[in-house]
Amino acid sequence: MPYTLQTLNYQNDFRRLPPAFYQSVTPLALTQPEWVVGSDLCASLLGLDLDSLQNPESLALLSGNKTHSQWNPLAMKYFGHQFGYLNPDLGDGRGLLLAEVETDSGELLDLHLKGAGQTPFSRQGDGRAVLRSSIREFLCSEAMAALGIASSRALCVVNSSTSVRREEIESGATLMRVSRSHIRFGHFEYAYHTDGNNGDNTLLNALGDYVAERHFPYIAKTPNQNADLFSLVAKKTAQMVAKWQCIGFAHGVMNTDNMSILGETFDFGPFGFMDAFDPGYICNHSDHQGRYAFDRQPAIAHWNLSVLAQAMSPIVEKDALNEGLKQYSNVFNREFLSGMHEKLGLNPAASSVDSDEQGAEFIMETLSLLKNNRLDYHYFFRVISEVNIEGGEPSALSSLRDKCIDLNSFDQWFSNYQSRLSQNTQDPNARLAKMQAINPVYILRNHLAQIAIDKAKHGDYSEVKRLHEVLKRPYSRQEGCQQYEALPPDWAKELEISCSS
Ligand code: AMP
Ligand code: MG
Repeated sequence: MPYTLQTLNYQNDFRRLPPAFYQSVTPLALTQPEWVVGSDLCASLLGLDLDSLQNPESLALLSGNKTHSQWNPLAMKYFGHQFGYLNPDLGDGRGLLLAEVETDSGELLDLHLKGAGQTPFSRQGDGRAVLRSSIREFLCSEAMAALGIASSRALCVVNSSTSVRREEIESGATLMRVSRSHIRFGHFEYAYHTDGNNGDNTLLNALGDYVAERHFPYIAKTPNQNADLFSLVAKKTAQMVAKWQCIGFAHGVMNTDNMSILGETFDFGPFGFMDAFDPGYICNHSDHQGRYAFDRQPAIAHWNLSVLAQAMSPIVEKDALNEGLKQYSNVFNREFLSGMHEKLGLNPAASSVDSDEQGAEFIMETLSLLKNNRLDYHYFFRVISEVNIEGGEPSALSSLRDKCIDLNSFDQWFSNYQSRLSQNTQDPNARLAKMQAINPVYILRNHLAQIAIDKAKHGDYSEVKRLHEVLKRPYSRQEGCQQYEALPPDWAKELEISCSS
């Protein structure tokens, strides 16, 4: 029997941490809650019946009109480096950890209601989330998971008649975020600075113990627990960022308070998937310096980890922290190169990637071809995943070649690609099948999200639901979904996504 929101098995596990890490807050009601969209796959992680969420009692729980007797909602306190500068004035300003769900398999999953009203950490904010940004987070969390990239999840979005002021008046909504953890790098920064003032390591030790026990029980209470913890975070972050770079995803606001301690994509704001390939792509219209440009993400993650290392320095030896940072770079390079090899259908075993300098060169040549000809990133990789070019002419890829400004560079690339492929031992059809399993047909392009949002703003949620359905199976071409794989229209280039949410 699947559970309902009323019958799930709830815990208040985060409250095992010292009270300095949170404040109790009751959600503030939104008026006239209305169901927008839900994720059956996320519901199934919880063992929850998705349909049951649409009944009035559940909608009341999802919109702050009611609270459950086993919830004990709290706002977390944390610090963070925002655009390079420490901000001690942070914490959950508009989202509450309601409780953790203990699933039948014994896993604890956080239920976090975003848009639930003001908290002691709201600063000037109104504690609300608008429909537009809630839909973007919903679609992207679920799309990332379907692409196979570690991410927080989204259970559902509920709209309301509560007005919220942004650049214009918008409607307030809630997003129910589901994640194994809401602990950020910034939690450790908060513990570090607070302990520093108190002259002890109480909060850092408590936090290290909590994260290890809950998420990495195999290192908990071992002599090297905290060093191993840092090394695991570094490794998982490297794996995540390597996947971002391979799929062409820009997060947009990689502040340390938006970095999950589990290396999961977290806190979706002005993110963007690349259309035409541009390594300097800045998806966040408010990021004037390009600090979080696409090609800076690997270095920024390293910078963020060095902030975390500083925060953990009272409880981990310096050498171990430096080793962890080095490990980040090694894992990132290895995973990025092997991921790009796979996208191209080239098959050096992951272990030999390090020594495959020619392979790395060819990846760079491919990316230069895309950049110089402004080729669409996803379209390019999907086309080469579907055409058997062994022994063929460059015209075999005419749909790409015709889009190139510099035909010579394309023909040169094509011939190099063929010669790289000729070193492959695998059968061409097997190669194409593997490539199709990692180069998506459908991607959450900005304009697709925008079309769905524009309709939703007029009360029509059908396109949000449809897009979510399509993105659940990004690697398989689906009937009647041609418009979702089409190249972006010209107006998509003008779309500007700001931080306002
Ligand atoms: P973000 O840029 O979304 O990661 O948010 C940075 C900080 O601002 C976090 O502490 C948020 O909780 C807080 N915040 C963002 N929007 C609001 C809002 N509308 N009301 C209150 N706090 C907010
Ligand atoms: Mg944030």
